[in-house]
Amino acid sequence: MLLQKLQRLGMAASWDSCGSGKQKNPRKSIVPVQYRAFIHECSQTQQERKPCRLMKILQSNNCIHECKYCANSTKCNKKTELKPKELVQAFNFLTKKRLVQGLFLSSAVTRDADTTAEKIIESARILRFKAGFKGYIHLKVLPGMSKEKIREMAELADRLSLNIEVPDGEFLSEIAPTKNFSNDLEKRLKWINELKEKGILKSFTTQFIAGATKETDLNILKKMHSLYKKTKLYRSYFSAFEPVKGTSLEKTKPENPWREHRLYQADWLLRIYGFKLRELKLALDSNGMLSLHKDPKMAIAVNCPNKHPLDPNNATKEELLQVPGIGPKAAEKIEAMKKTAQLTDFNELKKCGVILQRAMPFLQLEGKRQTRITAFQ
Ligand code: SF4
Repeated sequence: MLLQKLQRLGMAASWDSCGSGKQKNPRKSIVPVQYRAFIHECSQTQQERKPCRLMKILQSNNCIHECKYCANSTKCNKKTELKPKELVQAFNFLTKKRLVQGLFLSSAVTRDADTTAEKIIESARILRFKAGFKGYIHLKVLPGMSKEKIREMAELADRLSLNIEVPDGEFLSEIAPTKNFSNDLEKRLKWINELKEKGILKSFTTQFIAGATKETDLNILKKMHSLYKKTKLYRSYFSAFEPVKGTSLEKTKPENPWREHRLYQADWLLRIYGFKLRELKLALDSNGMLSLHKDPKMAIAVNCPNKHPLDPNNATKEELLQVPGIGPKAAEKIEAMKKTAQLTDFNELKKCGVILQRAMPFLQLEGKRQTRITAFQ
């Protein structure tokens, strides 16, 4: 019986959202989802960066909401719920077997958000205080939860997340008519941010679904940029829409997975490379979409011919980061090398980690551009 519950709720969690969204290789066993969290995200130190294996599961898949994309919405799915003690029992078993190092716990909203939150909190409490678990716990904030419950979650977890799903309320009403964008999501994100600012919460994230509505990449990028600007959001995740059988959107076309990939690249440019939103807009077509075939950094560089060719000897770190094929580590190494000697050879750039094939058309050294890229391969 418990095994059956774990199978069902583990499978539902691999869809993610509040335990919904798309179905990516849903698992039929309770072997945990290899979730791509990293130890440095968990511990917030940049030194360690090891994959963190999480047990990703739902407390319940019985939802009062009617999100049209979600297998847990009222009209679909067999309803199951784990008691906090059962969840902890399963988690302890898996940690003893060294199959997991952390927990990602979410839930559908049963009855109301706070009643469900109490069960999530109770699970995390037993894990922390009775089982003595000191590792990584990620808890999902449910739409409509009270400030008090969010604070209780923040005190127990390493990370909270609340999925914003779409850029605004109009899009949300198309796919999740029972949820209110400004009240259930934006207001809660504001409260989560306040906890982060006060140092009560370590970090928080959000997620967008791409392609369940007619939103453009520009809509998503604007919303994401505004969240980064106004809050301490750690990062955004993206999920290309895939219809789930039995839901209202089961006949809707799935989104091209490349769209998700391009959004991740654009997010990376904003967060890590220091690009401005206006620069990202240069990668968009007239419909406000990123190209599926070209990475956004290359698209921006090609659309800014006046910025190139760039001589790394005279460039700032920010300018170097705008060149395709130069990442943060390579830019740092170039900066360090420049302090000792003038760069005169493209092979020196290669030693710094520059991908010459990509970078070459945008660089020059001592007034010379190297156009025959093959010479350096
Ligand atoms: S709130 Fe919506 S997305 Fe979340 S579990 Fe319920 S139906 Fe699914």
